[in-house]
Amino acid sequence: MILGIDIGGTTSKLALVEGGHVMARSRIPTVGHADADAFADALAQAARELEHSSATRITSIGIGAPNGDHHAGSIVQAPNMPWDHDVPLAAMLAQRMAVPCTLGNDANAAALGEWRYGAGQGMRDLLVVTLGTGLGSGLIVDGRLLLGPFGNAGELGHVILVPEGRLCTCGRRGCMEAYVSIRGIRQTYQELAPDPALLKEDGVLNIAQAAAKGDGHAVETFERTAYWLAIGLANAVALVPPQRIVLFGGIARNGDVLLGPLRTYFEQHLLNIHKGALDIVLSALPEDDAALLGAAALTTLNS
Ligand SMILES: [Zn+2]
Repeated sequence: MILGIDIGGTTSKLALVEGGHVMARSRIPTVGHADADAFADALAQAARELEHSSATRITSIGIGAPNGDHHAGSIVQAPNMPWDHDVPLAAMLAQRMAVPCTLGNDANAAALGEWRYGAGQGMRDLLVVTLGTGLGSGLIVDGRLLLGPFGNAGELGHVILVPEGRLCTCGRRGCMEAYVSIRGIRQTYQELAPDPALLKEDGVLNIAQAAAKGDGHAVETFERTAYWLAIGLANAVALVPPQRIVLFGGIARNGDVLLGPLRTYFEQHLLNIHKGALDIVLSALPEDDAALLGAAALTTLNS
């Protein structure tokens, strides 16, 4: 049984995975631990409880993490994580659980999960984009997960889309993530509609619901988001053409308010040779399991 772990900014999810299926799952908070060692202790504790309740044994562990360096097995300078230093989490968990442990970038892990088990099965070239708190992406090129020298290739979220635009979490201006993410969508809505009624709740679900009902500012918010995303994706296609683009994460699941205009703008901005040649689809995996299944699949990656 493989343990897949998806480290998030607030919550970390664990799943026992066998044959590409989640057999059991649990979660712990990422925040609130005294230090990284205490967090690793809590992860190991949760892993042992999963083993116990499922009467099974974990034989290897795969972790997907923000700014995960696949080669070093470390979380490196992650801007949204509670630690201000690199955390060699693969070695820390391997030592606690006495099994081999692999750590990779979370967006790359999700791409691997979608490729092996989801909407990207059978594709030789695939782009997987995670739309959530940030914007992550991973690439399958020529039938291999693209890693690059730091194990994090494919940072589409930090491609500059608007010169001298909005401030990004990376410290630069105009990155795609500052526009196409939960934070970006909320900011766009705020710029269009200073009325904060829809901004009281976290996330973007209520803005999406207002858009679905025809609220002008909310519709315009998703139109602009779709436009920015379409330009970013068209640029990505020019650089490394995939056969398909898979979107997942909470924002993607808002359906036609985003996908409708996205498909139109995307087709308009594609290089001529790619027009009509690739589709944009939603993740085929339940509950955004791409990240967990992909984390588990990192353990079998030959590189
Ligand atoms: Zn950035």
